[in-house]
Amino acid sequence: MSAPTIMSTRIITSAPIITTRPRKIVIVGAGFGGLAAAQALRHAKAEITVIDRRNFHLFQPLLYQVATAALSPADISAPIRSVLRDQVNARVMLDKVTDIDRGRRLVLTEGGRAVAFDYLVLATGARHSYFGRDQEWAQFAPGIKTLDDATRLRARILLAFERAELEPDPAKRKALLTFLVIGAGPTGVELAGAIAELARKAVTRDFRTIMPESASIVLIEAGPRILPSFREGLARAAARSLEAMGVTLRVGQAVSEVSAEGVTIGADHLSAGTIVWAAGVKASAAGRWLSAEMDRAGRVRVERDFSLPGAPDIFVIGDTAAHADAEGRPLPGVAPAAKQAGAHVGALIAARLAGRAPPAPFRYRDRGAMATIGRKSAVVDLGRLRLTGLPGWLLWSLAHVWFLVGFRNRLSVATSWFWSYLTWERGARLITGQEIDGTRPALPPAGRREAA
Ligand SMILES: Cc1cc2nc3c(=O)[nH]c(=O)nc-3n(C[C@H](O)[C@H](O)[C@H](O)COP(=O)(O)OP(=O)(O)OC[C@H]3O[C@@H](n4cnc5c(N)ncnc54)[C@H](O)[C@@H]3O)c2cc1C
Repeated sequence: MSAPTIMSTRIITSAPIITTRPRKIVIVGAGFGGLAAAQALRHAKAEITVIDRRNFHLFQPLLYQVATAALSPADISAPIRSVLRDQVNARVMLDKVTDIDRGRRLVLTEGGRAVAFDYLVLATGARHSYFGRDQEWAQFAPGIKTLDDATRLRARILLAFERAELEPDPAKRKALLTFLVIGAGPTGVELAGAIAELARKAVTRDFRTIMPESASIVLIEAGPRILPSFREGLARAAARSLEAMGVTLRVGQAVSEVSAEGVTIGADHLSAGTIVWAAGVKASAAGRWLSAEMDRAGRVRVERDFSLPGAPDIFVIGDTAAHADAEGRPLPGVAPAAKQAGAHVGALIAARLAGRAPPAPFRYRDRGAMATIGRKSAVVDLGRLRLTGLPGWLLWSLAHVWFLVGFRNRLSVATSWFWSYLTWERGARLITGQEIDGTRPALPPAGRREAA
C-alpha cells in the first residue's frame, strides 16, 4: 500500500512535486519520418506510442514497381511491429487519427481512443492533389500513394492488355493499348518507363491477337521539361532514354480535362484505356487537426526545429510539414528529408527528457536525386558525381536495395531484379481485387470499370 507514504511525504516536504512518471510521446505515422523519430528515441526513458492506420511501413519509392508487376506488395513493406520489435519503450497502435485536442493534449482516433501525450510528432505524409479537380479526375486518373493504389493500377494495366486481346474493334483496341501518365517528375518518368518495358519486353510473346509492343505510352508534363528537380543535362538524358523505349513525351502541355475516355490537352483529345496521375500532392489533414497555419499545399508551417509555432512540444515532420532553412529554402518532399527531420526531432526530444543540451540546429544533407528509366538505365545526380545509363541504374539499384527496410525485403527485391534482368520476366503479373466477369462487355468505360 503506497498511498499513505505519499500522503506523509506531501505533508512533510514543501518542495514542488516532481513527476517521475515516464513522459508520453505519441508519434502519428510510421512512414520514413515517424519511424526515424521513434528509432532516435530508442534509449529515451519514455513511453512511445506509434499510431498508424496501416500495420506496415511502406517504401513508396518502389510503388511503381508493384504497379507494373515487377515486385510484389510484400517486397516493399515491413510490419511496423516487427520493425520496432526490439525497441522496448515503443508500442504500436493500429488506428486512424481523426483529430487532436491540443488543450487536453489528446490524440483522437477513429477507434474511439483518446491517447494522451506530453510530446507529439505528426508524420502523416501526403496524398494526391488534382489541383482542385479531385472529385472529377481521381476516379479516371488514379495515382499511386498506397499499396492498394498500386495493386489497383496493376490490375488496370494488365486488364487493358486482356481486354484489348478480346476486342474486335481496332479503334477501341488502340485506345485500350494507350497508357497516359500525367506528370513527369521522378514517379511519372519511372512509371512510363516501366509500362513501356512491360509492353515491349515482358508480355510480347504472351498474347495471340494483339501485339503488346504496339502499345502507345505517353508522358504528359505541363512544365517546360521532364524531371524539373534534376539538372538539365540529366533530364535530357532521361528524355532520350524514354524516347528510345518508345515513350512519347508531351512537354509544356497542360491537361485541361480528364474523363473515362481519355484526356484533353488544348484542342487535342487523347483516347486511352489507362490514365495515371503523377502530377501533384497535398499534405495530410494534420494542419486541420492542429488548426495550424498552412501553405498552399496544406503543409503545416513549422519552426526551424520542426515544432509548431507557440507549441514547443508538438512537432510536424516529413511531407506534411512546410519547413524552410535560414535562407528560406524549402525542405523537399522526399524520403531522406523526412528521415533526417525524424532523426532530428527524436534527438531533440531525447535531449530534453535527459536534461541535455539540444542537438545542433537542423541542417538538411542533400545526398542527391535518382530516377530509373527501365531495366538498364537511370539518371543519378549526387552533386559532383552524375551518372546515366547502366552505371546510373546499378547505383540506383544498390541504393534502393540498401534503403529498403528488412533483410528479407532486400534479398527478395535483389533476387527479383536479378531474375528480371536476365529474363525480362515480371513475376507479379496478377490481376487481383476483382473477379473477371466474362459476360461483361469488352470495353467498359474506365471510370465505370472499378465500380462494376
Ligand atoms: C510513388 C512515389 C514515389 C516516390 N519516390 C521517391 C523517391 O524515389 N525518392 C524519394 O526520396 N522520395 C520518393 N517519394 C517521396 C517519399 O516517399 C516521401 O517524401 C516520404 O514517404 C515522406 O515521408 P513521411 O514520413 O512524411 O510520410 P509517409 O512515408 O507517407 O508516411 C506517412 C504515414 O502516416 C500514416 N498516416 C497517414 N494518415 C494517418 C492517420 N490519419 N492516422 C494514422 N496514420 C496515418 C500512413 O499510413 C503512413 O504510414 C515518393 C513518393 C511516392 C508516392
